[in-house]
Amino acid sequence: MGTARPRAESSSVRSPASPVDPLGASLQFLKGVGPRKAADLKRAGLVTVEDLLYRLPFRYEDRSRMEPIASLRPAARAAALGEVTSAAVTVTRRRHFKIFNAVLSDRSGSIRCTWMNQAFLADVIRPHLTIVVFGEVRLDASGLHFLNPEYEVVTGDPGGVHTGRIVPFYEKTWTVTPNMQRRIVRQALDQLPPALPDPLPAPLRSRLQLVSRRTAIEEAHFPPPGVSADALNAFRSPAQRRMIFEEFFLYQIGHAWRRSTTGGEPKPHRIAVDDRIRASAARALPFRLTPGQRQAVREIVTDMQRQPPMHRLLQGDVGAGKTVVALLAAVVAMENGLQVAFMAPTEILAVQHYGTLARLLSQSRFRVDLLTGSTPAQERQALLAHIERGTTQLVVGTHALVQEAVRFHALGLVIIDEQHRFGVAQRAALGAKGLRPDVLLMTATPIPRTLALTDYSELDVSKIADLPPGRTPVRTHVMPESRRDEVYALVRRELDAGRQAYVIYPLVEGSEKVDLRSATEMADHLQADVFPAYRVALLHGRMPQEAKEAVMRAFAAGQAQILVSTTVVEVGVDVPNASVMVVEHAERFGLSQLHQLRGRVGRGAWASHCVLLYQAPWTDEARARLQAMAETNDGFVIAERDLALRGPGDFFGTRQSGLPRLRTGDVLRDADIMEAAHREARQAVEAGELTPELRQFVQQRWREQFGLVEVG
Ligand code: ADP
Ligand code: MG
Repeated sequence: MGTARPRAESSSVRSPASPVDPLGASLQFLKGVGPRKAADLKRAGLVTVEDLLYRLPFRYEDRSRMEPIASLRPAARAAALGEVTSAAVTVTRRRHFKIFNAVLSDRSGSIRCTWMNQAFLADVIRPHLTIVVFGEVRLDASGLHFLNPEYEVVTGDPGGVHTGRIVPFYEKTWTVTPNMQRRIVRQALDQLPPALPDPLPAPLRSRLQLVSRRTAIEEAHFPPPGVSADALNAFRSPAQRRMIFEEFFLYQIGHAWRRSTTGGEPKPHRIAVDDRIRASAARALPFRLTPGQRQAVREIVTDMQRQPPMHRLLQGDVGAGKTVVALLAAVVAMENGLQVAFMAPTEILAVQHYGTLARLLSQSRFRVDLLTGSTPAQERQALLAHIERGTTQLVVGTHALVQEAVRFHALGLVIIDEQHRFGVAQRAALGAKGLRPDVLLMTATPIPRTLALTDYSELDVSKIADLPPGRTPVRTHVMPESRRDEVYALVRRELDAGRQAYVIYPLVEGSEKVDLRSATEMADHLQADVFPAYRVALLHGRMPQEAKEAVMRAFAAGQAQILVSTTVVEVGVDVPNASVMVVEHAERFGLSQLHQLRGRVGRGAWASHCVLLYQAPWTDEARARLQAMAETNDGFVIAERDLALRGPGDFFGTRQSGLPRLRTGDVLRDADIMEAAHREARQAVEAGELTPELRQFVQQRWREQFGLVEVG
């Protein structure tokens, strides 16, 4: 307390960096940190001054307003400043149990402070000293007092470390207590030079009104008077925002930089759009595009006309109509003499896309083909020859498209549907077959903006936020299993009206979980006992491919009215006549998955229902998931909820997530800052504003934090 805190000054990367990085110094050499404490700190992951200062307080408490002692009231948390007028240790009847009492007085009055079992305080809090205490004011038979308050002896001005100010709280790690960390942080700050090299370019800082690095580091730990504790606890103080921005910016620079070095090689061809091409695209289009679709097409076609290959992610909720957007991109590529590969994650989906695209292009001069694992050998040979000669312009297929035997004549556009179903390697393998092709990734699993900016930061993102007209929102009912009869009645009403129904099971045959009714048994039961007048079909992942397709075809053609299925229908399947879906054991599904499933209904003009049947007992999280489903149909809202429920690491389930390990920021809490960092980093890289110093910062941070050695 009373130490003169250095006034922070602005600094710039351009100013010569000191030969020894003051933040790189080991904590061991800090005053008051010996080898023992250094070992404790190391166990808590704190080795350098930077480690320490970039671990921000997780909470702040305002202990700055000193109350006159006479106005202290019971049950309030308060700070008081006064002189110690008496102090004494008393020993209770319980052996070894000692109580230290001190009386604190100011001009208005006095109050007792009591510490249990801390007799050593008699040496610290001595009469005539001025101290600040902070804690809860209590009232009992012995009167008003502070019990075990935080305290600090005041030697100079009353801006303290533990009291008398807005006080930082740190997460306790191992043996490093919050109080200890607060003291060490203060020491580290006091030993920092008045200016530090700053990774943020000065013009950027002044444009975004970001404080200097030195100021930010100081004030994020020890906020100056006048900063609101609420802002601090929301991580919105200028100092905190600056530190978070710095972290996100360096991360985004790394991405933008890598993108500029790997994705920047220009395409060996030029794509142009003229009236003839526009007319050709319009002919293929069966309906008016929604504003969202039109915007997405504009963004995609603009990318395609640029020389660097496109890397764009098209996001649109289930049923938003991504397929025709992809079709229009394909027409532009084909009109420019290029081939297009359209890859889907499942055979069912590839067949469906092939059907749609071939129909829409039937009046055009383009040849559309289908290549999957089950394409017969002879047909396959002929098809491969067409692809290699370039007489086939559009190939729709599964991952069969990435096989070695598939060679393109002039592949200029790669479209990947439900992209998260593919590995990075498969996506790259398809791209490698082309002439640095444009790549369009599509997903109906809405990726929260925050994740799109981290995991997919190298991609441009288009979003279709609206749905085609004429859709009636699906009504969602969350019901216990005991109300099954009502559910069957609802299904029967729909079937009687000529509609179709899905019944979804978490997994087939119940081999892993005995309490799960198997889809197979259920299909038999529904057919024999519940809906004998209708045809029940069964679809599950272990059926042979041809059998699956035959079942899907029959259902799409209305030859079966009920489809009992495992989650293989989850992705992309389009049967507009289906108006009701029953999800069994809904409590076992993830939120995004339920949303995908629900997207299979509500595709026609009539009102649709989704019934989520759950079996008790369910967890709070399961309840929250099903509630979210009942509350909203908006896939983006659902994705954000899912992310909040599961945390970023789990969001894509088993998929390897490329999320950074962050020190100061939080991708959810600080989404707006990530957005700004993304924008600024892209601009800086595109404008060639990467100074050697900035590169060095990025490389250093990436190596340390993201475990990557090579950047660019
Ligand atoms: P998804 O984005 O889930 O892939 P699809 O491309 O399968 O969606 O489209 C869903 C349904 O909506 C299809 O039947 C499609 O023909 C129809 N559709 C798409 N766009 C429009 C539109 N602008 N107007 C009317 N119907 C549309
Ligand atoms: Mg689709």
